[in-house]
Amino acid sequence: MRVLENVYLAPLTTLQVGGPARYFIESKSAAEVAEAVNFARANDLPLFVLGGGSNLVVSDAGWTGLVLKVAVTGIEEHNPDDNGKTLFEVGAGEEWDKFVARAVARNCAGVECLSGIPGSVGGTPVQNVGAYGQEVSETVASVLVFDLTDGQLRELCAEACGFQYRTSIFNTSERGRFIILRVTYALTPGGKPRIDYADLKKHFAGFQNSPSLTSTREAVRRIRAAKAMLITPGDEDCRSAGSFFKNPILWADQYDELKRRATVKGLQVPSYPALDAQRKVSAAWLVEHSGFSKGYSSGRVGISRKHALAIVNRGGATAAEILGLKEHIEQRVDELWNIHLEPEPVFVGF
Ligand SMILES: Cc1cc2nc3c(=O)[nH]c(=O)nc-3n(C[C@H](O)[C@H](O)[C@H](O)COP(=O)(O)OP(=O)(O)OC[C@H]3O[C@@H](n4cnc5c(N)ncnc54)[C@H](O)[C@@H]3O)c2cc1C
Repeated sequence: MRVLENVYLAPLTTLQVGGPARYFIESKSAAEVAEAVNFARANDLPLFVLGGGSNLVVSDAGWTGLVLKVAVTGIEEHNPDDNGKTLFEVGAGEEWDKFVARAVARNCAGVECLSGIPGSVGGTPVQNVGAYGQEVSETVASVLVFDLTDGQLRELCAEACGFQYRTSIFNTSERGRFIILRVTYALTPGGKPRIDYADLKKHFAGFQNSPSLTSTREAVRRIRAAKAMLITPGDEDCRSAGSFFKNPILWADQYDELKRRATVKGLQVPSYPALDAQRKVSAAWLVEHSGFSKGYSSGRVGISRKHALAIVNRGGATAAEILGLKEHIEQRVDELWNIHLEPEPVFVGF
């Protein structure tokens, strides 16, 4: 086991802020993970599990304990099971989009709309990643974890993961308990792509043939690139943690109050079937209508020119500056709309 010291975390994240990890270990197998955990225990160090660093804000002080990067790789494809599903067992350290590319190339449906999401496979169940009408919870069959309470390996079925909108047991009730080593996805061989989302419907409107999985993947990546939601080298609008705020889910009276406030300002709350069903409100709309439009800048931080929900590091920003803008936005949205925005990224070392 190679134990590194004082490893800067900023370059290991997409937002590119944050100080050093006092200790840093990369683990390629369950046995190596167990060894790293023992090292943390023996030295009384707090443990943080790092994937692809695409959903993190790391503090300027960094992490005083051990950062364990899960680098378990491998994609194993099985023959279709009795339900006609093809199971893919994928190492948590694999790049998510590489797996999506593989699934699409094998003509297996279920994750095509999740093309281009940065980060690792192990990160996907944590916040039940979702985009363009699909969520990973629809295809996760099971998750192999290292349980920090007793050092055992456990295979959790999908139900045990407690998936909901941007949450699972991994980032709520059992936060910090499990290290994800492998995720098994059940995909549909020969299945049709999911074209439910407005952007995708618009993209394929007027096409003669029904879209294939490959053309859907390409369309999703193109749409994402236009919004700087695809990591593209050289595009500073990609220096983000993706959407910074979750779409708030409101109670009926809160929703009515929001509509009333919008009417007073001569505005209309945007309505999309996907959001309306759960009385979810577009966080992007709230941010934009609170004085933070695309391209907003405040020193070295700002809002992406292509996406109202992405706080970006315009170059050389500190975590404190990112936090300052986050708090400013939350405060304005609260004042103007009486809604408390909940951040999506994970805050490390604060
Ligand atoms: C440009 C951009 C676009 C994005 N678009 C989307 C989107 O469309 N939809 C969406 O849902 N998200 C999106 N995200 C957010 C992010 O990509 C996902 O949440 C991703 O799944 C995070 O995975 P990661 O490996 O980078 O995790 P990290 O950022 O490294 O970690 C995130 C959390 O997961 C935990 N974690 C990571 N790996 C493991 C593991 N093996 N075991 C246990 N815990 C682990 C960490 O401890 C941390 O709490 C976007 C981000 C960016 C930068």
